[in-house]
Amino acid sequence: MKADLHSHSYYSDGKLSPAQLLLRAKDNQITHLAITDHDCTMALQELKNAKFELTLITGVEISCDWNSKEIHVVGLDFDLEQNQMNQLLTAQQAKRKHRVAKIDQRLVELGHTGLIQYLDTLPCVSYTRSHVADFLVEKGICKNRQKAFKNFLGKKGRCYVASEWCSLSEAVTTINTAGGIAVLAHPGRYPLSKSKLESLVADFADCGGGALEVIYSNIDPHTQQRLTDLTKTYSLYASLGSDFHDSAAHWMDLGRIASFNPETKKNAIWLHPRWHSSIS
Ligand code: AMP
Ligand code: MN
Ligand code: MN
Ligand code: MN
Repeated sequence: MKADLHSHSYYSDGKLSPAQLLLRAKDNQITHLAITDHDCTMALQELKNAKFELTLITGVEISCDWNSKEIHVVGLDFDLEQNQMNQLLTAQQAKRKHRVAKIDQRLVELGHTGLIQYLDTLPCVSYTRSHVADFLVEKGICKNRQKAFKNFLGKKGRCYVASEWCSLSEAVTTINTAGGIAVLAHPGRYPLSKSKLESLVADFADCGGGALEVIYSNIDPHTQQRLTDLTKTYSLYASLGSDFHDSAAHWMDLGRIASFNPETKKNAIWLHPRWHSSIS
């Protein structure tokens, strides 16, 4: 068994179609894949009636706010048709559309036109700053994505627009209400001190969070151990996912992550009682 429970299709900021994503997963010997687009389940809707050899797990990655910090919560194995979930995702997508319109205004003021026309050519339904970064690179305004984030889209960038995401507790509650399990995504990637990270994990567990990602691309052994310790302290399960977006970023390829070691295996996410036999 080889699982990857965090990946993106071109309906958010991934580069592959859902079908291409499944093919790559199969090529990489993945047996259990979750597609977790940013605030969107279009890929899963598209694959609803398709047949494939691996186990596909319903997923989403919800952007939310915790004490004015942007946090990502992955939802796994929930009901795709659940109303509260779909209402939340529709609202989040609207916020994303509103944000790119504001970024476009800022770019136009700087003399860079064409963002909305560029976005209209893409299959995506959930707009992210990655799309804007690609636009800036394609137009030759920025050398690469990193520069686009640093100079334009990041907190100190010229076109930074904050978005008012739902709260952490709303994201977790909605995932639980839809019958899923809430996973705190890439906990070591947030700019938080050790104690702030612990307080995030405590709040996450308090409002019904189920698991922490403890294995993901480029995680260092020290962080991995710290996160594993936190799963024990707060009685959370351990999850894993590459956060795959694009085959060009080979260090984040589908399945290019460690598997559970004996310590994490004991509280691996598929031992969660709410896991309705999707992974066995
Ligand atoms: P958004 O959710 O619209 O804020 O977009 C966030 C996405 O942009 C993330 O999921 C990453 O894929 C990407 N991203 C965020 N920060 C950076 C960065 N500094 N460099 C490159 N990509 C980034
Ligand atoms: Mn992304
Ligand atoms: Mn994320
Ligand atoms: Mn992600």
